[in-house]
Amino acid sequence: MKFFIVSKGDTKSNALKDKMMNYMVDMGMTPDEKTPEIVISVGGDGTLLQAFHSYQHLMDHTAFVGVHTGHLGFYADWLPHEVERLIISIQNDEFQVIEYPLLETIVRYGAAGTETRYLALNEATLRTNNGTTLVMDVDIRNQHFERFRGDGLCISTPSGSTAYNKALGGALIHPSLEAIQITEIASINNRVFRTVGSPLVLPKHHTCHVNPVNSEIYNLTIDHINLVHKGVKSIQFRVADEKIRFARFRPFPFWRRVHDSFISAE
Ligand code: NAP
Repeated sequence: MKFFIVSKGDTKSNALKDKMMNYMVDMGMTPDEKTPEIVISVGGDGTLLQAFHSYQHLMDHTAFVGVHTGHLGFYADWLPHEVERLIISIQNDEFQVIEYPLLETIVRYGAAGTETRYLALNEATLRTNNGTTLVMDVDIRNQHFERFRGDGLCISTPSGSTAYNKALGGALIHPSLEAIQITEIASINNRVFRTVGSPLVLPKHHTCHVNPVNSEIYNLTIDHINLVHKGVKSIQFRVADEKIRFARFRPFPFWRRVHDSFISAE
């Protein structure tokens, strides 16, 4: 089994990474940074997001697992004292692979006629790059839906619905549903300007396009990555064909994780 361990970088996570690395090598497993079959992130959900972006080109072959060194995470749900058990399960191939949907974002540029494609595990957010009101025509399935005015838009995956989307009042969506959710960030609603106001959940076969009205420069975040795009003609959001694969060693149902993270950990 070829593996790699990504650490958050703090002392606790680095020490646990070193301990796991030694244990796994002693058991005959091979560290392989380039083509790991299993990627273990040690830190938090943010660390798993980084691991995903480092290995998204290998998603057909690579499964992810997260160990948390801080609080319980949605992607990082193994505790430091459980890692021996985790490593023995990896060695014995005692895991199932479960797949979660991803968000595909395609930015199309006017002048050059080019495009850039991104995959997000949590979400993409769109804002202007200078703090002014974002004004965008939102089309769903190639039909005009609304002219959005406000701070921004958040388009999240089901597993990302517990992250920024939740803070915006979006619904929590079970990751077995192949869907994306569009949530408003501080929309302007008055007698002149009108948006739907509610989060929208789109199925896999529905695509959303947002088209600039008064600017061509935007801040687009893809998970933790923040990029400025110039000369934007349109941005397309839909459920990606690719999925992230998680190695599941024991049942830890999504709604249990929601309960333990947001209600109370028993
Ligand atoms: P960060 O600002 O350092 O951390 C943001 C927090 O979001 C961390 O506590 C992180 O958990 C948690 N988180 C990440 N993915 C999650 C998920 N799927 N479900 C529940 N919580 C999750 O940023 P970061 O670590 O680089 O992560 C980037 C993410 O932060 C973005 O994708 C966005 O979803 C989230 N974010 C949230 C808000 C908000 O809630 N108001 C604002 C901005 C960004 P860990 O501590 O376990 O890493």
